This record gives sequence, C-alpha cells and structure tokens, in this order.
Amino acid sequence: MRGLLRATVHEAREHNERLVLATIYDGGQISRAEVARTTGLTRTTVSDVVDGLQRAGLVATIGRGPSTGGKAPILLSVPDRARLLVGVDLGDRVFSAAVVTLRGEIIHRVALPAEQTDGEDSVRLALDVIGKVVSAANGPLLGIGIAAPGLIDTTDGTVIQGVTRSWRQLPLGSLVADRFSLPVYVANDSQAAALGEHVFGSVRALNLVVIKVGVGISAGLILNGQLFGGDGFGAGEIGHTVMDPSAERCRCGRWGCLETFASTGAILARSSELLGRPITFDEAVAEFERGNSVVRSVVHDAATVLGVAVGGLIGLLHVRRIVLAGPMAVFGDPWLGAVQTAARARALGVLADDTVFTISKMDDLVMLGASALLMTHELGLQLRPSM
Ligand SMILES: [Zn+2]
Repeated sequence: MRGLLRATVHEAREHNERLVLATIYDGGQISRAEVARTTGLTRTTVSDVVDGLQRAGLVATIGRGPSTGGKAPILLSVPDRARLLVGVDLGDRVFSAAVVTLRGEIIHRVALPAEQTDGEDSVRLALDVIGKVVSAANGPLLGIGIAAPGLIDTTDGTVIQGVTRSWRQLPLGSLVADRFSLPVYVANDSQAAALGEHVFGSVRALNLVVIKVGVGISAGLILNGQLFGGDGFGAGEIGHTVMDPSAERCRCGRWGCLETFASTGAILARSSELLGRPITFDEAVAEFERGNSVVRSVVHDAATVLGVAVGGLIGLLHVRRIVLAGPMAVFGDPWLGAVQTAARARALGVLADDTVFTISKMDDLVMLGASALLMTHELGLQLRPSM
C-alpha cells in the first residue's frame, strides 16, 4: 500500500510539473498568479513546482510585467534552448538530422545521401548522421526523435516493416538509445509530419490530417490533440488502398493501389509513357511549370484519384483541416485544387463544405515533427490549439 501511495504522489507531482511547464511554454511570458489561474492549482503548489523547474533549468524569470495595482509580477518563461532536441528524418533520398530548439528552430543540421543504402548499411548510416549532430549539440540534449518510412511500433521504436530499406522487426529505437544513452522515440514519417504541423506549424487545430505524398502515400492523424496510430500503428496507411483492381501492378504485389495512381513514381511512369521518353522528377516539375499539357493532365489525374481517397477520409473522420505535404506538393495550387475538387465531390456536402485544404508551409516538416515527437513525450509540451 505504501508503495502504491508513493507512486500516486509521484504521479500527481509529475502531472503538475507537466501542466505548469506546458502553461508557461504556451503563455510565452506569464506570472505565477496567471499560471495558478490557468491550471486551477493553488499558488503554493505552483510556486513549489516552478522552483523545481527553475532548478532544472527548464523555466527562467525574465523580469517584471505591468503592475495591476500591487507589486509588478515576476514573469516566467521556458527558454528556447532550455533543452535541445535532435530530430531525424530517415527519408527516401537523404538521411537528415538537426539540433532543434524547443520552439522548432533548427540550429545545426547534417544530411547524408541515402539512396543507395539498404539493410544494415542503412542502419549504420542512420547512426552516423545522428552521431554527427549529437556531437555538435551545444547545450543539454533532451533526447532523439526519429521519423522513418514504414510501419513502426511507437511504444518501443521497433520498425515492424520498412520496405524501402528492407527493415523487418528492426529495434531502431533501442539501437539508437544504446549508442547515445539518450531517450529515443520513433514514429513513421507521416505521423511525424502531422505532429510537426500540430506542434510547430500554423494550423492550430485539435483534429488534423496531414497527407504525405511522394514515393509512398500515407496520412498522419491528430485526433483530439493526440497522434492516432490505430490498434496496430497502421492508421493512415492509405497508399495501398486499392482504388481500381483492374489497373497497374503495385510494388506491394496487388493491383491498382492509390500509390499506382498518385505517387511521384506514378506520374513519372505515365508522363514518360505519354511523352515517349524517360523523364526525371525535376524535369516533370519544369515541364509542368512551363505549361506542358501532357504533364499537367497527368498531375491533374493523379490529384483526382488522391482526392477520391481523401473524400473517404472526410466521411470517416470529419476532420476540418487537411494538410498536404511531401514532394508532390511542389505542383502547388493546381494539384491542391484538383485534390480538393475530387474530395469534395465524394464526401457528404455539409462535411465537405467544412473542410479546409492547404499545402504545408513548413520546410523540414518531418524532421521538425520528429523533434516534436520527442518533446511531447518527454516534456508534455505543445502549443494549445485555440478553438
Ligand atoms: Zn500497393
């Protein structure tokens, strides 16, 4: 019984610490009295918790605010560099990692080409890129957040299946934690992108879907302010939903998956076929911008099929904010518009009219999302959505 009671007291203290820290972080500059008002905790508890956070260097005083009659209150803030985050994006072409502040500012970055690596070599390359930024960090590190493509057990950081690197049951989280003796969190790239928008982005919404469209297609879901992984971490894996079983063979072995219509690979294959010559992604972008009617119609068709899938998501979740990201977003408003038109045409009118589609404005969305994954887990920090 005694042990249980102590654990409960400890949990209550940790809860209060997270609540107070989050309130100060969110408030920017805030007095102890305001913290007490916002959290509903007593002034004594707030002072006690703030003292502990100050000793840990997580909270600092930044002078006095305007007086409201009595003594001017001391203002508190969470310094941007109270802890530093390492965010890692193990992308398809490049492995990149960065040292990031608690406000999502990148202060040092490293990127290594990764297109030709596979299996164990790619794990070594990942450890290498992480090691370079860890050793360059100039301040107290909170830990490491990693985003990788594939199906990932976010509770222990195991990559259940990562097709692009031939990873299967790879304990990536514990490999990295053992090497660097820091807390490590791993999520898939679309989940990280969703957290990046939610924590550091401009979309302040409790519910949010971020769809990342590149070589693969998947969605990250923020529901009720939390990353939603589903029962087996695969929520949002829409890329291999079959759209037309009579269409092309997919790399997963089936026919007519969403990826065979709407991915970068799909538009390159179709453009090459129609133009009668092989075309690279950069060339396709250049031709699109030049107004090449073949490439424009290929991109439009790809967006339309994506929109059909997104329409299904709207019907299922009724999430008002849909953010599109990834390499295909370079096709900008014409692509976004076609996705939106197709999605709206296929969802119930009142739901569809409500939905706002945007393209992410954040560079390094996945890497920042990986940092956000670490920060939300370790400190419980995120900007509170204004609803
Ligand atoms: Zn497939």
